Amino acid sequence: PESKLPALGTTIFTTMTALAQQVGAINLSQGFPDFSGPDYLQLRLAYHVQHGSNQYAPMSGTPALREAISKKIARCYGCQVDKETEITVTAGATEALFSAITALVRPGDEVICFEPSYDSYAPAVQLAGGIMKHIPLTPPNFAPDWSRFSTVISEKTRLVILNTPHNPTASVWQKQDFDALWHAIAEQPIFVLSDEVYEHICFDDNGHHSLLQHPSLRERGIVVSSFGKTYHMTGWKVGYCVAPPHLSLEIRKIHQYLTFSVHTPSQLALADMLNHAPEHDENLPTFYQQRRDFFIDALQASRFTLLPCQGTYFLLLDYSAISKMNDVDFCLYLTKEVGVAAIPLSVFCKEAFPHHLIRVCFAKEEATLQAAAEKLCQL
Ligand code: PMP
Ligand code: GLN
Repeated sequence: PESKLPALGTTIFTTMTALAQQVGAINLSQGFPDFSGPDYLQLRLAYHVQHGSNQYAPMSGTPALREAISKKIARCYGCQVDKETEITVTAGATEALFSAITALVRPGDEVICFEPSYDSYAPAVQLAGGIMKHIPLTPPNFAPDWSRFSTVISEKTRLVILNTPHNPTASVWQKQDFDALWHAIAEQPIFVLSDEVYEHICFDDNGHHSLLQHPSLRERGIVVSSFGKTYHMTGWKVGYCVAPPHLSLEIRKIHQYLTFSVHTPSQLALADMLNHAPEHDENLPTFYQQRRDFFIDALQASRFTLLPCQGTYFLLLDYSAISKMNDVDFCLYLTKEVGVAAIPLSVFCKEAFPHHLIRVCFAKEEATLQAAAEKLCQL
């Protein structure tokens, strides 16, 4: 049968993790921690499973979790979000992104996205019949070029997708980026989808700036986040999206037939965790900054050039001094011959990306990072 997504293969994360396992390489490719989340969270999950919370959750999420999310948003961003009409719990951020894009994008609509970008946006836009318009971000800082942005907007523009802290470049938006975005779209009925799954992983005392802190953008904005990153449990696949009531209504129309609802005991355990230890997310910057700095130190003796890392748990390495291979070939070589798996940056781009950059994940135990750095320093 004719494919609806002919150009699409298996995701790079699946491919590289499988290869790393096959050859026994240290896996710094797919982004996930090699340690587990809080004991309390695990105990609460077991508790709710054993105490009978095993049937369907309400479609929009359990009231306890939506309540805890609204409190967290008030605490972190000083903004009031209605738990009944503005928060929808989803099967990871991935489902929130897909539901939001499917709800908003109509055939022929244009969607502006910064590139490199996370891999799940484009296929969802394509399935909805939308057309992607890319704004390139360039190393080393990957800052948006706002003059270029205004030339890409047209009367067909329906949605802008942004991601801060940014996977894969580890760059972080400042308030002035949101102001510039608002300035560019204010006159037109354009929506904004803000992927903030790394909201609590921001370094060097530069806090995360959320779209929720911008009152005008908030009226047109959908913010997506995920507990996978915050609680070191990427396999739990519980996320959520926050949007004004009229947009949440449209997103729920998709969500209710995509998954209907999300794993009940995980939602109850996450609500308990949020209420029990609200300070957990405040400790995350230090927790991950220590790992980042440990890895950066361990790579000082290598021939890689390290790019700035303001947030996320990814670091970009420039290997121009080591090899002239393209980034995909270099990652295959690195995995098979050196024993460290990484992600080539060009897979996050539709346009040619003429740089020698790879992404490594430092959400790992120090021993893992040390062992990987020793191998990388041999090159
Ligand atoms: N957006 C970005 C930028 C991500 O990096 C990820 C996954 N790491 C997701 C969305 C998906 O999150 P989830 O695993 O909760 O579906
Ligand atoms: N978001 C993770 C990463 O960037 C991967 C998630 C996935 O495998 N789909 O590595």
